[in-house]
Amino acid sequence: MADKEVAKEQVAKKPVYVPTDREQAFLDTVEDTRHQREIINGLTPFFNEKAPEDMMSFYTEDEVVKLQVLKGTERDVEGRMPVKITRHYFELARKSKPIQRIVKASPDETNDMAGSEDPGNQMDYAPVEGLLHKYEMGLMYVVSTCSAHCRFCYREELIARKDIERHDGTVAKKGLAKIPEITAYVRAHNELVKANGGRHPETGREKLREILLSGGDPMVLNNSKIAAWLSALAESDVESIRIGTKEMAFYPQRFDDNFFAMLDRFHETYPEVAVHFMLHFEHPDEILDKDDDENYVQDSQGFYQWIPDTGHAMRELVKRGWVSVQNQTPIIKDINDDVDALRLLQREFKRAGGENHYFFCGRDIVAYKAFNVPIEEAWTKLNESQKGLSGIENHARLSITHYKGKTEVNAITNEPIPGLPGSENGVVIFKLLRNALDAPDRGKVCIVGRNPDAVWFDDYEDRVLFDEAGLFDYTRVTESGKAPKNLPSPMPGITGCQ
Ligand code: SF4
Repeated sequence: MADKEVAKEQVAKKPVYVPTDREQAFLDTVEDTRHQREIINGLTPFFNEKAPEDMMSFYTEDEVVKLQVLKGTERDVEGRMPVKITRHYFELARKSKPIQRIVKASPDETNDMAGSEDPGNQMDYAPVEGLLHKYEMGLMYVVSTCSAHCRFCYREELIARKDIERHDGTVAKKGLAKIPEITAYVRAHNELVKANGGRHPETGREKLREILLSGGDPMVLNNSKIAAWLSALAESDVESIRIGTKEMAFYPQRFDDNFFAMLDRFHETYPEVAVHFMLHFEHPDEILDKDDDENYVQDSQGFYQWIPDTGHAMRELVKRGWVSVQNQTPIIKDINDDVDALRLLQREFKRAGGENHYFFCGRDIVAYKAFNVPIEEAWTKLNESQKGLSGIENHARLSITHYKGKTEVNAITNEPIPGLPGSENGVVIFKLLRNALDAPDRGKVCIVGRNPDAVWFDDYEDRVLFDEAGLFDYTRVTESGKAPKNLPSPMPGITGCQ
């Protein structure tokens, strides 16, 4: 058959999405806003002195020269991860070194380019382009950018549009999710699960109950696009939708009346579908107002004052009791590996009505050595930060996403365990929280001898003391008989933005 005819046939086979009447009635009410984020894209405006005059000082002349020298070389910082900042975030960065570090490119970040282009081989989990299906949950790449870009981003390959090798050996950029393909997959999966008594007949997986809109940041899409995703998923029998976003830090004005009107109309139309906002605040400087001396502003009673637009966005979200608002963030070197900052972040986020969900250990992205904090240091700092927090403020756990599933860094001892060789310097206890296949291994632990320099599981391979979770022997997962036949490994990890 001629190529043209093949292409025609493929186009003809593509699923077409037709909204239901209920859905269309909701979509017809949605209004968009023209937002002015005043974004500076890339380093060229700083090299060519084309950035607004007051923003030029974001990079010193010396920094500009050093970054310019790297342009086009293997150490080009923009080749690794595109540079981007909003006016709002720039204003915060004026008074905050940690915030500068989040978005400001540095020649140091490409000193050592060790790391993986696709940590966790995420594409192994993509049955449809733009969807990662793991557990009972789907994660979708709905867009490949954010309003600003974090230098340590775990999605650098998506945001930089890098070519990624797939499971079958083909090489291509990661594609974005499209409503017809995704909803067709979700419906087909769930129908098979239902017909087979609650488990997929081939993979053993449960119903796809929960979908996370991710990317990039879904909140850079306009309201109409977000609404189209929400209603299409609701019509596909999805029970719970998460929106992973850092927009409240980068551009809180995005959470405006039109957005909340859309959200309210969605809830009126689909009251049975849960909505969760997975926010990404790394440091209290992203939420709290500072004076000109860079001190946090407090009122006469000592309450910290939130940045007005951020506080407004947070209050509007939280007051909708049907929405849950959670924070999750990695612990990154020279940004929030700081006990006081972590404590204040957790305290203030809870005071505003949010929940502290996870802190993450960094993954082995390209150039991870510039950003990652050793596992034991991250746990110790988080634990210290939670001393003095109340039980409802200190819910967050430290998670490291093992290939087998999400794993908590549960405890560390400073003393040896009597009678346990290998524990002379103390031990680290990991606890499996979620499992790719099912839930039978949840709660199982693994104990390793300490290694203060460890940034990943590999660094403990020579000191495993006890491993009922199978973190160092995950072939037994596929030998258990419970594994889906096509389960690939390893498992994908998750960023602060999921
Ligand atoms: S970490 Fe999240 S907000 Fe930051 S650039 Fe990556 S996806 Fe965007």
